[in-house]
Amino acid sequence: MPSLSDSPLPVRPAGPPAEEIPSWKKALSEAIRDPAELCRMLGVRLPDGCEAASRDFGMLAPRGFVARMREGDPQDPLLLQVLPVGAESESRDLPTDAVGDLASVRDHGLLQKYHGRALMVLSGQCAVNCRYCFRRHFPYADLPQGDAAWEPALQSLAEDTSIKEVILSGGDPLVLSDRRLRSLIGQLDAIPHLTTLRIHTRLPVMIPERVTNPLCQTLSGSRLQTVFVTHINHANEIDDSVASATARLRDACDFLLNQSVLLRGINDSVESLESLSNRLLGIGIMPYYLHRLDLVSGVRHFEVPVETGERLIDALRARLPGYAVPRLVREEPGEPNKTVLA
Ligand SMILES: *Cc1c(COP(=O)(O)O)cnc(C)c1O
Ligand code: SF4
Repeated sequence: MPSLSDSPLPVRPAGPPAEEIPSWKKALSEAIRDPAELCRMLGVRLPDGCEAASRDFGMLAPRGFVARMREGDPQDPLLLQVLPVGAESESRDLPTDAVGDLASVRDHGLLQKYHGRALMVLSGQCAVNCRYCFRRHFPYADLPQGDAAWEPALQSLAEDTSIKEVILSGGDPLVLSDRRLRSLIGQLDAIPHLTTLRIHTRLPVMIPERVTNPLCQTLSGSRLQTVFVTHINHANEIDDSVASATARLRDACDFLLNQSVLLRGINDSVESLESLSNRLLGIGIMPYYLHRLDLVSGVRHFEVPVETGERLIDALRARLPGYAVPRLVREEPGEPNKTVLA
């Protein structure tokens, strides 16, 4: 890097050379994968059964996210979302595909369960491995790779005029490079009956640098209405870097929504959900769904009884404006929509 004394003007190259690795990709590759390292950093004891659990489903936690965890607190609500624990082995009896995803793979990488909306599974990778994830057993390795692999899905979308909305999902769709997303969204723009593009992602909260200028330009340049759905479970996930990434998204998208999963020990209290809603609204994101946990193998210790969920939503309604209260939903195989519980 040139020192300031070398040049009278601030040096700002027009753009990085094509080969330069964007900072978000670097952050992704530097994410913590070793539970012992994470526990050392935070000064907490390595939980029993951690190693076996992480062999089953590897730990992945970006450093910026870890920086928002409280030191010395084994119950930290962000830590509990990422740290493998022995309790995961207690629900091995549960199925690996609770929501019927495999049955719904209409074409390679395309899932349609609901009228007018189809979901494109773009990537098996995420910026984080959430311990409660219902897709933790999804056979992503079987997904077709590379741009040509989108052909069958795009073909099928082009032929079915009943589909108005395409949802980019994964894994995390924003793991794809800006170039590939621009190419894909350009191809979706060209399908005349599509009206809406929705993106479900956890990247802006995990690695806020992912909200790059080229990404924002692609989103604002699309002729489709853009609905951007973040996945944030706890108010502590939102720091200044997330707030400023969100501000950039607000300029680029038509709607910003959030979905959360109701998780035992993480956000199953009125106080926690209330501060999450307030924090989200404070940065311009509307609470959309609060999902009941999809029960798959390894996640039962996060389960919150449905009555508790309903009680929490009632209590939130009594405290917050209507638009600040997410709908408590559950996905039931074979239903024509998500089931609204409260
Ligand atoms: C959840 C989901 C959607 C979106 O449902 P909305 O109620 O519109 O948010 C669409 N397709 C699939 C396969 C889904 O799982
Ligand atoms: S980001 Fe989403 S898909 Fe990825 S592990 Fe977390 S919950 Fe699962």
